[in-house]
Amino acid sequence: MSTLIADIGEPTSVTWHILGAGSLGTLWATRLARAGFSVRLILRDRARLDAYLTRGGLTLSEQGQRHTFALPAGIIDDAEPIERVIVACKAYDAEPAVAGIASRLIPGADVLLLQNGLGSQEAVAARIPHARCTFVSSTEGAFRDDDFSVVFAGQGFNWLGDDQQGPAPEWLAALVQAGIAHEWTPKILDRLWRKLALNCAINPLTVLHGCRNGQLQQHAGEVSALCNELTAVLRACGHPEAAEGLDEAVTEVIQATAANYSSMYQDVKQGRRTEIGYLLGYACNAARQQGVKAPGLNALQERLIQRLLAKGLPAD
Ligand code: NAP
Repeated sequence: MSTLIADIGEPTSVTWHILGAGSLGTLWATRLARAGFSVRLILRDRARLDAYLTRGGLTLSEQGQRHTFALPAGIIDDAEPIERVIVACKAYDAEPAVAGIASRLIPGADVLLLQNGLGSQEAVAARIPHARCTFVSSTEGAFRDDDFSVVFAGQGFNWLGDDQQGPAPEWLAALVQAGIAHEWTPKILDRLWRKLALNCAINPLTVLHGCRNGQLQQHAGEVSALCNELTAVLRACGHPEAAEGLDEAVTEVIQATAANYSSMYQDVKQGRRTEIGYLLGYACNAARQQGVKAPGLNALQERLIQRLLAKGLPAD
């Protein structure tokens, strides 16, 4: 493995601010910077900024190569106006983090939301009506191997869109240049719902059974019953396309990722807060609101909450 310090030059275009320099934030920041775009990190406070400066940059490991990018960084409380920002916090951190920069967003600013699940995007968009929010559903995989150091673990794809079904923005060209696989879709909510449903049918059960994804093949009846309820929820919420063939898709994911531990399993194992409130919790609330009977999902949520509380983790 080689380590390079890449000094990124003067801004030549609109600066891409990155709010949240964790796994996905680093993945996006380093690829954009590598393609020559102006990138600036927004860290939560002075202590994190000092820690970052001590590290000397963000490190991305990809295909056995480590590269460190000495990107400029500031903190939430800075005054500099923001024209474009990628929000790469966890779903539960997104709204408070964006609230911290709301006064810095210029009218019409572009705000890209990378959060998994649903609920956080609406909360953020409501806080910043003067901005244009783009939702992203990502199947890329990255994890932190150290502070400000990330491994690009899984090639994937990014679907982008907004709930206004607006036209594709001009800045998509930057993603092409940066090699970030993506497509603009008018059906971003279908994408987010579909991913949420796959997550609900797999991840909580891997936590409760303490198993890899593949071992859910021994619980096929339980998985299938959840898929039936999720299908009804998706349809009732106006996303019938996201419901199509859900059972088969879940089976395929379980088989294709048989050796993997789900992200929720890993979060719980490592004592980290899960995003349950934006995944299973969101599905259960939606079922209640739409009057869809979902006894299996509700029971799953209750069991998962009890498991999280027993481990001293937040239940939301
Ligand atoms: P992560 O590694 O935990 O990174 C989150 C980052 O947000 C951390 O660096 C954290 O800062 C920062 N943050 C939180 N609150 C902040 C604030 N107020 N101001 C500034 N920074 C703040 O999370 P992740 O894995 O990248 O996940 C981000 C989202 O992407 C999640 O919704 C996740 O489900 C989704 N996603 C992730 C992947 C993946 O492979 N990782 C794939 C698809 C989707 P500190 O470092 O200071 O704690």
